[in-house]
Amino acid sequence: MMIPVNEPLLTGNEAKYLVECVETGWISSEGPFVRKLEEGMAAISGQRYGVAVMNGSVALDLAIAALRIGPGDEVILPTFTIISCAAAVVRAGAIPVVVDANPATWNLDPSKLQAAVTPRTKAIMVVHIYGLPVDMDPVMQIVRDRGLKLIEDSAELIGQVYHSRSGDACMVGSFGDVATVSFYPNKHVTTGEGGMVLTSDEDLAERCRALRNLCFGKKRRFIHEELGWNFRMSNLQAAVGVAQLEVLDRTIKKKRLIGSWYNEFLEGVTEVELQEPRTPYAENIYWVYGIVLKDEVPFDAEEAMSRLASAGIGTRPFFWPMHEQPVLTRMGFFRDVSCPVAERIARRGFYLPSGVALTRDQAEQSAAAVRALFE
Ligand SMILES: *Cc1c(COP(=O)(O)O)cnc(C)c1O
Repeated sequence: MMIPVNEPLLTGNEAKYLVECVETGWISSEGPFVRKLEEGMAAISGQRYGVAVMNGSVALDLAIAALRIGPGDEVILPTFTIISCAAAVVRAGAIPVVVDANPATWNLDPSKLQAAVTPRTKAIMVVHIYGLPVDMDPVMQIVRDRGLKLIEDSAELIGQVYHSRSGDACMVGSFGDVATVSFYPNKHVTTGEGGMVLTSDEDLAERCRALRNLCFGKKRRFIHEELGWNFRMSNLQAAVGVAQLEVLDRTIKKKRLIGSWYNEFLEGVTEVELQEPRTPYAENIYWVYGIVLKDEVPFDAEEAMSRLASAGIGTRPFFWPMHEQPVLTRMGFFRDVSCPVAERIARRGFYLPSGVALTRDQAEQSAAAVRALFE
């Protein structure tokens, strides 16, 4: 039997709350679990308002629209991320400007940010990747100095903490003028499909609520001053999310436990690079357990993953850099851009089974299969 790359656990109040939806008839976005999930997520993200939506990708579209980013504006983002980030920028008619990854954390390298800022830069979109947050102190310095907006894609690190140099412990998701999360089944809180926009700005929150709901007129419902979308989340989805949020602490503990298992089982495997268990500003949360094949390994991630699949181990490749996306380069973006760190880890990196249902035995088997690659 295959060890899946991700398997969620729905063993709390998920079923109970779903039955409650059915029995009360509250199944649309008007139901009470939506508001509950919004309040709960806002509280654990250090923001005042949450606006629940259909998924983490449209949350990014909403963030861009709420901040009125559009034609002529540049948005700086990591090249090593999911297409949703660049897609939101491009669909708004704005220009994505990419920054390479840090080789140790795989996150956006803040030392390369300053050079990417131009007079047209309107916002920076940071994305916390895999297990460690972006080093936010230097990012916030630039955001403040240059008067930029900050979008914080926190999809992968719900519940992670960033320790600033001044000694403050800040929740991931608390930095952005607008932060976004995803509730896909591999995320720390799942609703099946779902996402949220988080902000502490009342006007931005109100604008997100309007944009999510077709910008219905305030006086006459069907008279519209602006074009919105139907991005609403249903009460059924939110019911699952509320139950998931109740066990977030357990989920995060389990993720860190899985990380410690792999660190133990892969100790001494000199052919792979692993993410640091900790940096001066964070403890790795191991949303997924990624590994990068060292340059002396004579095969790439694609071959390693196919050999692991034959051994019954499910894996996922790393992100493919935005500046190497055919759809974006054909549109004329990223001419002459090179980001050697992201290009390398995209080809040599992948992640191992990391879902909360994983057992120690399964982690041991997965790690043994990785060792066997080099024998
Ligand atoms: C999962 C993810 C998204 C997209 O979320 P969906 O709910 O799948 O649309 C966006 N950004 C990052 C960093 C993600 O990991």
